[in-house]
Amino acid sequence: MKYTPMIQQYLAIKAQYKDAFLFFRLGDFYELFFEDALTASRELEITLTGRDGGGEERIPMCGVPYHSVDTYIAQLIEKGYKVAICEQVEDPKQAKGVVRREVTRVITPGTVMEGKFLQDKENNYLVSVFQKDGVYALAACDISTGEFYTTEVGTRSLLLDEMMQYRPSEVVLLTGREEDDELGEMLVLYPIVVTKRPPDVAEDGEDVRAGFAALFSEVKGTKESTPAMLTATRGLLSYLRETQKRSLEHLHQVTLYEAASFMVLDQFTRRNLELVETIRDKSKKGSLLWLLDQTVTAMGGRLLRRWIDKPLLSKSEIEKRQAAVQALLDGWMARDEVRACLKEVYDLERLAGRIAYGTASPRDLVQLKTSLLAIPALKQALREVANDSAALQEVLDGLDECPDVIETIDRGIVDDPPVAVKEGGLIKEGYHEYLDKLRTASREGKQWIAALEQQERQATGIRSLKVGYNKVFGYYIEVTKANLSLLPEGRYERKQTLANAERFITPELKEKEALILEAEEKRSELEYQLFVEIREKVAREVKRLQALALKVATVDVLQSLATVAQDNRYVRPEILTEGPLVIRDGRHPVVEAVLHGEPFVPNDTELGTHQQILLITGPNMAGKSTYMRQVALIVIMAQMGSFVPAEFAQITPVDRIFTRIGAADDLVGGQSTFMVEMKEIEVTLTNATERSLVIIDELGRGTSTSEGMSIAQAVIEYLHNDIGCKTLVSTHYHELSHLETTLDRLKNFHMAVNETDNNVIFLRKLVSGPADKSYGIYCAQIAGLPQRIIDRANRLLEEYEGAVVREAAPEEAANRNKMSGPEQEHMSVTAFAAAEEPQQLALFSEPVQPKPEKKS
Ligand code: ADP
Repeated sequence: MKYTPMIQQYLAIKAQYKDAFLFFRLGDFYELFFEDALTASRELEITLTGRDGGGEERIPMCGVPYHSVDTYIAQLIEKGYKVAICEQVEDPKQAKGVVRREVTRVITPGTVMEGKFLQDKENNYLVSVFQKDGVYALAACDISTGEFYTTEVGTRSLLLDEMMQYRPSEVVLLTGREEDDELGEMLVLYPIVVTKRPPDVAEDGEDVRAGFAALFSEVKGTKESTPAMLTATRGLLSYLRETQKRSLEHLHQVTLYEAASFMVLDQFTRRNLELVETIRDKSKKGSLLWLLDQTVTAMGGRLLRRWIDKPLLSKSEIEKRQAAVQALLDGWMARDEVRACLKEVYDLERLAGRIAYGTASPRDLVQLKTSLLAIPALKQALREVANDSAALQEVLDGLDECPDVIETIDRGIVDDPPVAVKEGGLIKEGYHEYLDKLRTASREGKQWIAALEQQERQATGIRSLKVGYNKVFGYYIEVTKANLSLLPEGRYERKQTLANAERFITPELKEKEALILEAEEKRSELEYQLFVEIREKVAREVKRLQALALKVATVDVLQSLATVAQDNRYVRPEILTEGPLVIRDGRHPVVEAVLHGEPFVPNDTELGTHQQILLITGPNMAGKSTYMRQVALIVIMAQMGSFVPAEFAQITPVDRIFTRIGAADDLVGGQSTFMVEMKEIEVTLTNATERSLVIIDELGRGTSTSEGMSIAQAVIEYLHNDIGCKTLVSTHYHELSHLETTLDRLKNFHMAVNETDNNVIFLRKLVSGPADKSYGIYCAQIAGLPQRIIDRANRLLEEYEGAVVREAAPEEAANRNKMSGPEQEHMSVTAFAAAEEPQQLALFSEPVQPKPEKKS
């Protein structure tokens, strides 16, 4: 038994695209067969049918109409699949045998171009990675905007940090050998589509610079090119070429950057600090990005995200941004103007991408024109403030109004073109002589037909005679059955019979109709052709459009920062090259914004040579973690060039922020909270430098109290004696406060509370000195534990506090560690506390925590 020729053709093509759904064009449908059909019918909830293909069994099949294919593709891409589009590449009428078919494009999560699949304010990156001899390179590209970056780092974990910062939807793993699978393994935990391909490895002796120059017309950035970067870049480009099968003119520029020239933020820290999404529901709302985002354009939104992801290290670069924010803050009238102009600007980056890629519609061109028309007013507004800022002056100087592009579009394309590109109505009158002739011909033909009704009525005397049009029969003359006898013989040819009327044509009508149809067909074809010509002409200017887009995005981000600074009363931090971190009356930008009514209590911070570590104690809910996150966020904002929520700030840029914060349970990896905590601490201890900022919230939870406290002390000593990084540590082991006597750069602080008989008021104020006790029982009470339990706990507390327990002998401690349950916890705390400072007893060191996000 043999398959039919068409199914054979299908199988031959499918064999080349094993990892994608093959959408096989059959007339007005895209059909899927075999396994593809089984899976797709399930994923897309479409009916599974079968087809006789010459084999013994019917072939499973399902299909989607060609005009709604985008929606189905979007669903599959969203679910992490790839789709290969296979078109008929010859006219079926002319085909001898099976119509020739070819895959014209493969759509994958990392290579989508269409707006439907993309979020406006988010990039969609495709990343390639390559490793060789301890060098890890990556290349990242957003094909929809034309950005292309590459870098190289020295460790796998830095590679992972760098890669995750792009939040890629797809990763191309350039590996030919099984041994390289470690890269693959580290990716299985993430919802990322991974494609493996053999690399085209750049040789050591190869002229790497020439290699880059051969691929891009512009090579930018601060980093020297290396063979590994070239390999990663080539691998990414060849994957793009193979899937897209067309010119990628808009990928003409590559930026080679040094990962270490920005603040490094590992993925835990990004998540813990909720920089672009919240931990709880992964929404933008509630994140730093949400707070800072007053951008008007989509590209501004994307650039702001990149600024948050990559805070600067260089004082001069930070100050350049600050000056621009200042200028736009002071010149608020100009800023209003700027915002108004930006509202007119569409997504230039993606428009330019689609124009170069050849998928832009006439509406896209009109949007481009509208955007460009807003540029002169934007320039005018910027002129008023640019004197005070080098960054704004640079933007202004290079702001290209592209009058030639406006003129090209404006002369050719009508102002409100239809969605369909092949049905005419796109091109303006007067643009093309022959097109105008065709238009006149069809218009005259139609006028003749319009006049025909009147003429025929007079000629026949039938007052109800009508001239009409339908798609199947074309133009006709309609006469009711009652009047048929009035029609003269001969001239009228019967075409269609209805219930109470007959439809006729005449030779002249036929002739005019042919003229009109021909003229219209030619006209639509010609219009499409002219439109493509215009699009290609504009495509030649894509570099200018991209450069303009970046400048507009920059202005947008700067005005956003100015707007936020004004709305929230932020101040411009002073940037130091080295030295302390000083914040007066600092606030948590996001908590402050979401506290309804309640005022946010500001707090000071000073970290430097005399005071390197702040050990913060205080009850749960007192505001410790809010305080520590606020310091980290203020530093990040400052290094982005933003103003900060404080009365005054002096910031020495930090090279990296490490966080270890309670809520970061590794749900994906399925590891215990304690293990995750230890891993994060390990990352911190091995990578932190003197210039880093380390934030550890509740160090040493998740194991027995004595162990937890011992680990905490050892870690703090190491940070103090060996690393010397600026550090904030919170702990509920307030017994650790004795460390102040042995570590001279460690200072005790606590969150003040006001205690009355049976009530505790959190003052949210950071004051020096250790907390005098925990408020675990109080917390348990406000969490709603039954009063009987609270009373019992209070009695137990009194008992323990009455007991003076000497530091336990080793066997005893070991025995205690084997015990489980709360009583064991309390006993060990008491033991430690008593040993160090008999008056300060802490029980219920790990009480019920009323806040859901802190539950581990
Ligand atoms: P802790 O880490 O000590 O358990 P949190 O920092 O989580 O406490 O703070 C608990 C709650 O108190 C926060 O959710 C916030 O709403 C509020 N809060 C914290 N700090 C402040 C402050 N400085 N001003 C006003 N409210 C605050």
